[in-house]
Amino acid sequence: MTNQQQNDFTKWYIDTIQNADLMDYTPVRGCIAFKPDGYEIWEHIQAEMNKRFKETGHRNAYFPMLIPESFFQKEKDHIEGFSPELPWVTEAAGEKLEERLALRPTSETMIGHLYSDWIKSYRDLPVLINQWANVFRWEKKTLPFIRTSEFLWQEGHTAHVDEEEARQETMQMLNIYKEVVEGLLAIPVYDGQKTPSERFAGAVDTFSIEAMMKDGKAVQAGTSHYLGTKFAEAFDIKYLNKENKHQHVHTTSWGTSTRLIGSVIMVHGDEQGLVLPPRIAPTQVVLIPVGPWKKNPAIIEKLDEIFAALKAKGIRVRLDDSDQSPGYKFNEWELKGVPVRVELGPRDLENSQVLMKARDLDEKESIDINGIVERVEEELNTMQTRLLEKARAFRDANSHTHVDSMDQLKQHLDDSAEKGEIPGWILAGWCGDDACEEHVKEETKFTTRNIPFNPPAEKSTCINCGKESKHTVWFGRSY
Ligand SMILES: [Zn+2]
Repeated sequence: MTNQQQNDFTKWYIDTIQNADLMDYTPVRGCIAFKPDGYEIWEHIQAEMNKRFKETGHRNAYFPMLIPESFFQKEKDHIEGFSPELPWVTEAAGEKLEERLALRPTSETMIGHLYSDWIKSYRDLPVLINQWANVFRWEKKTLPFIRTSEFLWQEGHTAHVDEEEARQETMQMLNIYKEVVEGLLAIPVYDGQKTPSERFAGAVDTFSIEAMMKDGKAVQAGTSHYLGTKFAEAFDIKYLNKENKHQHVHTTSWGTSTRLIGSVIMVHGDEQGLVLPPRIAPTQVVLIPVGPWKKNPAIIEKLDEIFAALKAKGIRVRLDDSDQSPGYKFNEWELKGVPVRVELGPRDLENSQVLMKARDLDEKESIDINGIVERVEEELNTMQTRLLEKARAFRDANSHTHVDSMDQLKQHLDDSAEKGEIPGWILAGWCGDDACEEHVKEETKFTTRNIPFNPPAEKSTCINCGKESKHTVWFGRSY
């Protein structure tokens, strides 16, 4: 962590977002406007997700934002989980509505209602649909991108003939999330299963990928749920099987949201602000003329040439020929997190070279002007990998496996505070009792993140009660 991050991480985060011009606040509490650079990051995430969804047979559709109250009553866990956060529409055109309509927090109920009509026979299965939409959860405490009252997301909703197929789907989508978050956003994640208390409201099993921010807190970066036949029973989604018998379908749902944008900022940002992984950067390369370039038209001619060559390779490149000083421009583009900067001045041109600087490295590199396209392309790739490796090293260094009791956890928290270090996460045993989980949370604000599929170690005793553990679990503070 840098100094500013250590002093006040939230302030650093908000300053970084505002300096990078990614969003703006609005008069509606907890609802932000995505400015073009913020929205474009989302578009790159969407493009990669859509590619993966379609490769695996899914198609996009769209469902209404308003959901009748009675739909929520049909699945009891679902209404209990979501009702505190629901905003309601109670009147329209000056008249009170007969039934209140919720602004969707998620669409299982509306989609369940429709699937009961769309699905009649085994021939109609599987149904593999995804929706890109806005959803609402009236949050008490909000933070741009990470937790807002309205946010953007995708929600997949699938229906299958049996449990085996539905569970395969659930894991397939979790794996896709892991690959996209690690490959595109350069954020390493732990994949695993949620404990019952952290499950999605109405799910049989919830699986998640969990990412560590630079302040040591966790962000749940994606979830995939096996819903069993719970929603099929609540909404009467049945099909005739090959033996001509009615069966309930098995459903799944899975989602990722614009909190991924917040995660990128919190994982990669530094003292100068935003650092964007090249694959999602709205501008990947900025070209800046330096020295007395205005008296020397050959400089801009050469930069125009480089611009065209990079653009032809599909690289998102900008040429900043505004009348600000080079120093001002360097700072502006660093705040925006642009991965690669290329500088060209009269002396560079004479020597047939340019200066290149990667956003996350301190040193500039002098490169041959004739090999610039290849070198820039290579740097975008290596920076992408470098950011993932740095984030992984940071996460691993703050993933602790030596804490096995509440006393040790409290000692670990004291030690971290004394050294000015983040407490990070701990891997500990858990007996499976909700009360033990709750006690850890009350005492330390550490909650269960997930039960990892591939834990770095296996724990034999519960961190709280000392009895035999059923699961080895990541605990940490979370957003
Ligand atoms: Zn216990």
